[in-house]
Amino acid sequence: MRVGFGYDVHPLVKGKKLILGGIDIPFPKGLAGHSDADALIHAIIDALLGAANLEDIGSHFPDSDEKYKNIASMVLLKKVKKLIKAEAYEIENIDTTIVLEKPKLKKFVPKMKKNIANNLGINEKQISIKATKEESLGFVGQEKGIKVFTVCLLKEKS
Ligand code: MG
Repeated sequence: MRVGFGYDVHPLVKGKKLILGGIDIPFPKGLAGHSDADALIHAIIDALLGAANLEDIGSHFPDSDEKYKNIASMVLLKKVKKLIKAEAYEIENIDTTIVLEKPKLKKFVPKMKKNIANNLGINEKQISIKATKEESLGFVGQEKGIKVFTVCLLKEKS
């Protein structure tokens, strides 16, 4: 068994879509970044790569590379799934916490889970998505950004 940890932050700005877990969430602001800035998927990618000791998202998909501009992060997640598989690991579970002040994500979580599970070829029960507020403290509390923490467990294929 190998544990992995991932963390990501993106700024919340006007004029951008809010995409989390591949879902377009209606909100007046969205996340800024080189790709679609899906912080949830980025944190999952870093957890998976970390568990497999395969460096990080930036080394596989550098933001200096134009081909990743505005790319759907789900496409990157699928590539990471292949990298993990090539190392003969399979995913046991993924647990995530999205830290944001607004909007409420509860109603979007089942669709996010389904989306991620489908793209990783795992069961929805193997992925947990939680959300919490930062109680008006710091940049999250001031609605300037969203952060995501993720842990995952990989096991070697027997
Ligand atoms: Mg990111």
